[in-house]
Amino acid sequence: LIEITEVRKSFGSNEVLKGINLDIEPGEVIAIIGKSGSGKSTLLRCINGLETISSGAISVAGAQFIDDELHLKALRLKVGMIFQQFNLFPHLNVGENVMLSQKVVKKTPKQDAEALARKMLERVGLAHKFEAYPDELSGGQQQRVAIARALAMQPTALLCDEITSALDPELVSEVLAVVRELAAEGMTLVMVTHEMKFARDVCSRVVFMHEGKVHEIGPPEEVFSSPKTPELKQFLGMTA
Ligand code: ATP
Ligand code: MG
Repeated sequence: LIEITEVRKSFGSNEVLKGINLDIEPGEVIAIIGKSGSGKSTLLRCINGLETISSGAISVAGAQFIDDELHLKALRLKVGMIFQQFNLFPHLNVGENVMLSQKVVKKTPKQDAEALARKMLERVGLAHKFEAYPDELSGGQQQRVAIARALAMQPTALLCDEITSALDPELVSEVLAVVRELAAEGMTLVMVTHEMKFARDVCSRVVFMHEGKVHEIGPPEEVFSSPKTPELKQFLGMTA
């Protein structure tokens, strides 16, 4: 579904991605782990066209991602992204937040946008909060609204960048429960996460990034239980 071939990305003279190769099948749930600065967020941002790549190729659902605005826009429509910060508009209620990009980007008629927003809010367990404003919600609820907003764009795949990192510990599980459900429904998910237990339970493969490269990749039981490289052993807190 997502094909990443020899992708390199530099910021000035700093090469952050150094030849990434990764093929993601439909319905896969991929966890990306690695030290701060290893390029995890940059990779996600390249996959949904928030960053241009320096060389290599990325295609999503067979569509080649070429570096012009039109293609980047098309790519962003296909691939949803959720961030650590929820970025909801404070002056719009929950329903309006979920409807906004449908209306602005896709020109969806208001009635259809509203019906879809209600459906997606139901999926994240927040149908009853349609009229509420973001500051009336907990962080976990706000993040679930952000998930509903991404789902309302009906993406082919969803990228999640540390979506539970800004949450109080007691709110993490409600967000992970939603992600777990999406995974069970067959949504293709690529998530940068520190939730190792979640990764072990839910993910089909774990990618360990180190210094801009895919350093190790495999099913979670392999990556977590028998890491091959000293770098991954060290990252997992195992003594090499
Ligand atoms: P973290 O775990 O802290 O989120 P990460 O693995 O997500 O780290 P990235 O955010 O991808 O790491 O950053 C990788 C490198 O790219 C860092 O050295 C960072 O300083 C650099 N970088 C990222 N974005 C930019 C930018 N817009 N301009 C310049 N350098 C950048
Ligand atoms: Mg990051």
